[in-house]
Amino acid sequence: RPLVVMENVSKQFSSGTLALSDMSLTVNAGEFVSLLGPSGCGKSTALRIIAGLGDASSGAIDWPASRINARGLPEGDISFVFQEPTLMPWQTVFGNVHLPLKLRGISKSAARSDILATLATVGLQDFADAYPRELSGGMKMRVSIARALVTKPKLLLMDEPFAALDEITRQKLNDDVLRLWHETGITVIFVTHSVYESAYLSNRIVVMKARPGRVHADMPLVTSLSRD
Ligand code: ADP
Ligand code: ADP
Repeated sequence: RPLVVMENVSKQFSSGTLALSDMSLTVNAGEFVSLLGPSGCGKSTALRIIAGLGDASSGAIDWPASRINARGLPEGDISFVFQEPTLMPWQTVFGNVHLPLKLRGISKSAARSDILATLATVGLQDFADAYPRELSGGMKMRVSIARALVTKPKLLLMDEPFAALDEITRQKLNDDVLRLWHETGITVIFVTHSVYESAYLSNRIVVMKARPGRVHADMPLVTSLSRD
């Protein structure tokens, strides 16, 4: 069942840079797809278009399984995790994870059990009342992941999320993301320039090339971690 269908998408910025050229990609429910390629090959641009955060210059993008709003964009089903956790320093962990629910008009008290359950899935059940400044880099990233998951999205987009973390923390978070993928049935698109990370995590690797950005190879993986 396709969640995202990109057809011949090109993206040219006003600067003239052709960031994507004729990219076609269908991502099905349940997949863990890595978008792999060197810096500048268009991975982030592709991910933003998939998220509905950026327009394509030509081609088509569709979200067949999502509710589409008046602006033609998917509503509610897609969450994004960036390399920078961008937490609100004046809010506790609980308050930070509450934010996307607050934006949907759900109060802290109504969201309480969902927030605490989501914090437990990333191992932060004891840190609900802590402030971001009290947390390590890896823990901040876990809060960012919890904030993305609390709305129960169908699709989780991650843009080089762990690139700034040390190797041990990064490996732990990779294992957490894999466990979440197994437990929740969520679909993941994970941008990375690490061949190791893409092979460790995903069951499909889409390799991109630069100048112009395009899909170079699309490889299904046989892994020991298959969910089916
Ligand atoms: P990646 O994520 O693979 O590193 P990006 O999608 O960030 O690649 O960038 C692809 C190309 O588009 C690069 O040449 C980059 O410099 C350019 N680019 C990205 N964003 C913009 C922008 N807002 N304006 C102009 N050029 C951009
Ligand atoms: P709550 O969900 O608890 O109502 P609020 O967004 O109202 O959260 O903010 C909680 C606290 O953070 C309040 O004391 C508020 O004044 C403060 N606060 C809100 N926005 C900012 C900001 N941009 N910079 C600094 N403090 C802020």
